[in-house]
Amino acid sequence: MFKRKNKHHYRFNTKSLVFEKVKVSVKEKLKKFLSIAAAGSVFAAIVLLFAYNFFSSPKEKMLKREIEEYKLQYEILNERMTRVNSVLNDMEDRDDNIYRVIFEAEPIPSTVRNAAYGGADRYAKLEGYDNSKLIIETTKKIDMLSRRLYVQSKSFDEVLDLAKNKTQMMACIPAIMPIKNGATMIGSGFGYRLHPIYKTLQFHPGIDIISPRGTPIYATGDGVVSTPAGNLLSGYGICVVINHGYGYETLYGHMSRKVVAEGQKVKRGQLIGYVGSTGMSTAPHCHYEVWKSGKRMNPINYFYNDLTPDEYQKVIELSSKINQALS
Ligand SMILES: [Zn+2]
Repeated sequence: MFKRKNKHHYRFNTKSLVFEKVKVSVKEKLKKFLSIAAAGSVFAAIVLLFAYNFFSSPKEKMLKREIEEYKLQYEILNERMTRVNSVLNDMEDRDDNIYRVIFEAEPIPSTVRNAAYGGADRYAKLEGYDNSKLIIETTKKIDMLSRRLYVQSKSFDEVLDLAKNKTQMMACIPAIMPIKNGATMIGSGFGYRLHPIYKTLQFHPGIDIISPRGTPIYATGDGVVSTPAGNLLSGYGICVVINHGYGYETLYGHMSRKVVAEGQKVKRGQLIGYVGSTGMSTAPHCHYEVWKSGKRMNPINYFYNDLTPDEYQKVIELSSKINQALS
């Protein structure tokens, strides 16, 4: 069987009608080889580039799944922190408006409670990634929460210190409502209210607890029945003022009858009179004021002894309504 050698190429000469050996130089061979190699390389590079961009390796796929999972966890964490944040808000509120008030400590300024961590480059190392914003926001939230928790725990330490050996003071400071179960009967709160007679916006220096005539009124803290100076009592009708010491006084107005005399010592919860509508009043109610160092305070901050958190919330809602006072 004839087998043509591969080494040589032949060309058919149409003139001479014979096969002629074609001589290919080494240079030409090399040239040919290089051009094929170059075309192959370009093609391979295109295929690789395509594969690199459109298909992930199993490892890459796994990493991508992991990143998605982290992202989800960060988002869940963020939501949980928002909830923790609202609980902390409530704690801080109670601390400033109740606990610290009881022990005569100034409320902690919000600039201290919410002071951010110093240093602009604190989060710099977290920058430059796809999810940097999420990570930085979350980290900032955690930092803020830990800072606020630290301030809050310090405040509780301070309050605890103040509470020690203050049993006597605690018995004197007004801490209950002057009417039993009065939480739902607040007709008008502390602040600017429409005056029932003058029909103008006037400062209402206490709260009005609407109750039927004859409802018992109780002393809200230990103290001595006193007479306030000057013309303070005009318009209050039959009225009792108790000096509790430590700078505190309470006033109970518009009574139908009082059962304590000036100079008499009273205990918290002791009956001092009955609800009426004497003085400048439009309906039977107990007008109650709390004074601290000569300044009128919002009485709702002094009901902490006999209110559950729910009742406290109710009192805040009722007393913040801008309505007409009973005076
Ligand atoms: Zn009033």
